[in-house]
Order: sequence, then structure tokens, then C-alpha cells
Amino acid sequence: MKATCFMGRNTVQVTEVPDPKILNARDAIVKITSTAICGSDLHLVDGYVPSMIRGDILGHEFMGEVVEVGSQVKNLKVGERVVVPFPIACGVCGACQKEAYSLCENSNPNAWMAEKLWGHAGAGVFGYSHLTGGYAGGQAEYARVPFADVGPMKVPDGMTDEQVLFLSDILPTGYMGAEMCDIQPGDIVAVWGCGPVGQFAIVSALLLGAERVIAIDRFPYRLNMAREKAGAETINYEETDVLDALKEMTGGRGPDACIDAVGMEAHGHGPMYVYDRAMQAARVETDRAIALREAIMACRNGGTVSIVGVYGGFIDKFPIGSVMNRSLTIKTGQCHVHRYMKPLLERIQNGEIDPTFIITHTLPLEQAPFGYEIFKNKLDNCEKVVLKA
Ligand code: NAD
Ligand code: ZN
Ligand code: ZN
Repeated sequence: MKATCFMGRNTVQVTEVPDPKILNARDAIVKITSTAICGSDLHLVDGYVPSMIRGDILGHEFMGEVVEVGSQVKNLKVGERVVVPFPIACGVCGACQKEAYSLCENSNPNAWMAEKLWGHAGAGVFGYSHLTGGYAGGQAEYARVPFADVGPMKVPDGMTDEQVLFLSDILPTGYMGAEMCDIQPGDIVAVWGCGPVGQFAIVSALLLGAERVIAIDRFPYRLNMAREKAGAETINYEETDVLDALKEMTGGRGPDACIDAVGMEAHGHGPMYVYDRAMQAARVETDRAIALREAIMACRNGGTVSIVGVYGGFIDKFPIGSVMNRSLTIKTGQCHVHRYMKPLLERIQNGEIDPTFIITHTLPLEQAPFGYEIFKNKLDNCEKVVLKA
């Protein structure tokens, strides 16, 4: 089959690889119809997540048709259309019982690696480095889906791939980012990053009752989308001092909650950005926390900082004094996607959310390298690339 492979830092290639096979009784094989490129894939390709190996198949946002099932998969039949959540979860361990699916204790065969870096391991993830299990990803023609009796959700007849594809990751992720803010009537929420995750965090914060959402980025086309499609007010951080602007827009108190939808490759300007780039290049810190620091400093006393942007390792100049002295709450996590798929599917069906607004590019799988290039460099007004296998 054809698959999108990591071929070294900044190099992605679509090549022929062996077809996946059923390995365990709870596996299914899915013939992929639609898959997407995520900001998390950029962290891998840019070389910021350790343990990627040349030839690894990328991709964790995918859906398609079931073509084979293992003997213990009773809930799926060949021919059914499914969308697959990015964390791999067994459904029965302690974490899964608490619906903390991205923390599944049974799905990461390389837990020992993650334990060295993080103390404890999280779940296995499709196409997301050997730290999270070394599973083949879904930017391919087929994928093996472990624990297929738990993860994949059947797609109701009549719904397009585009309507449901983002239930695999970014819609639940944006929603969880907003849910972690514990939004109360009248709250103002600020969102750093107007990528796909940021857009869905904005939409979700408004759905969950935020009175106003203020979104921050530097690309005018992304800020326009945040304003016109998602319903936010916006700040371009290249034109305006974000902390001053947020104070002014919130009567001096700061937003009630701040969502980091940027993660470890944040961009910035001024001496702090130069410092972070140097520290990261020297491997003194693994992640540039420019947006996170700003989100912490901006948040009102007693407010919540919700981190859905991905961080890999260690950061420098973490403003713990601001967090401690001002009683901030920090909540974070890889999304527990399984928990949100059905409720969000209902919100799509009843018209509360139309997730298709973020799609700017639809390409054949063969053009994945081009998709990575425009998504990474924010070229051609690219917001989200869907690949058709
Ligand atoms: P993206 O690259 O499209 O979006 C990131 C946006 O952040 C860009 O528009 C960029 O201009 C903006 N940005 C950079 N520096 C900034 C700064 N200092 N202030 C404000 N904005 C800034 O990526 P995406 O697909 O939207 O993903 C966003 C993040 O969410 C990534 O870190 C990704 O790994 C993460 N993610 C997490 C989960 C999860 O389960 N927690 C799931 C999916 C994605
Ligand atoms: Zn993703
Ligand atoms: Zn589990």
C-alpha cells in the first residue's frame, strides 16, 4: 500500500510499504478514505519529538471502511464506515474505566521509554513516535486498528467524511480544551493559536457558555477565520501587545480562562524568543513555551490555564511564581477522544457545530508532502489539509 512516511527531519515521502495485517484478536483493518495532517504531526516532522525512526508511517486522524476484523471484534462488520480516535485504548484498565483514554495503561508497548522521559507512560497513539508505541499511522491506504472493539465509532448514513473526520482528534481536543476551563456564565476565554485546534476551542468555549472569546495569532487569514467562522474577537500579536490588550478588553482583570492551542513550537519576537530558540537549539530545553508563559501571565487571579498544545519535554523560565501566588489552576492532557466522539457527533447532527469550516485544502494522498509544506509554513492560506486515500 501507499503510506506517508517520516524520512528524517523535515522530510516526508509517500512510499510503498507492506499492507497491515491482523495481529491480535481485537484488531481491525480499516481501508482509509480520508485522513488529515495535524499540528502534532509537525512536531514530529520538525524533529522535536524524540524516537521517530526513518520509515515510520505518519498520521493519527483517519477514517474509512472496515475490511477485516479479528475474532474478538464483535461490534464491527466488514463494510462499515468508521472514524478512529487517535489514542489507542483497551477500554478496561483503570484509566479507561475513568474515561481517561489517552492514559490507557495497556496500549503502549514502549511504556519504558516514556517512563524515562515523563515518569509514567500514556496511551499508545497512531503514527506518533516510538515513545507512544511505534504504531503505524493513518496517512496511508490502510491501517491496523488495535482494540477495535473500543475505539472506532460507526458513521451514521448520510454523513460525509468531512463532517465526521475531525472527531478523530481536533474537534474533541478543542472541546476538551474549553471544557477544562469550567466556563461560567459571563466568562471571557482567551485562546492562543488559531490553527484547527484553536478554532474548535473557540467554537466549543462559546457553546459551553463563554460570553466572549478572544483569539490570538499572527496570520491574518487565520484570525479572519476565528472572527468570521468561529465567533471570536482577535488580537494579532505582531501588531499589538497581547498582555496589554487582554487587560484592556477585560476591565483590567484578565481572561477567566486561557487556552494554549499552540504548543512546543510557539513563535514570538523579541529577546525572549531569541533566548528560547537558542535554548532549544542547544537542547537545554526541548520546548518553546512562549504562548504558555503568556497565557499564564494573562490569566485573571484564580483563573484556569488549559493546555491542549502539545509539549514534549522540558521548558525554561516557567512562571511558577505567577501560577502559585495568583491561585491559578492548570489543566492539560492529550485528548481523551473516545469520551467526546458520540456527544460531539450529536452536536454535528443537530447543527450546533459544522466542523467543515476549517478545511482549506483537499489533496490526494500522494500529495501529502505538499500538504505538509503548506500547512507547516502557513502558505496558500492553509488551515487544514484533508488527504483522500
Ligand atoms: P497549527 O500549527 O495549525 O496551529 C498553531 C497556531 O499557533 C498557528 O496558527 C501559529 O501561528 C500559532 N502561534 C504560534 N506561536 C504563537 C504565539 N506565540 N501566540 C499565539 N499563537 C501562536 O496546529 P494545530 O493543528 O491547530 O495544533 C495546535 C496544537 O495542538 C499543536 O501543539 C498540536 O500538537 C496540539 N494538539 C494537541 C492535541 C491534544 O490531544 N492535546 C490534539 C491535537 C493537536
Ligand atoms: Zn492530531
Ligand atoms: Zn486501557
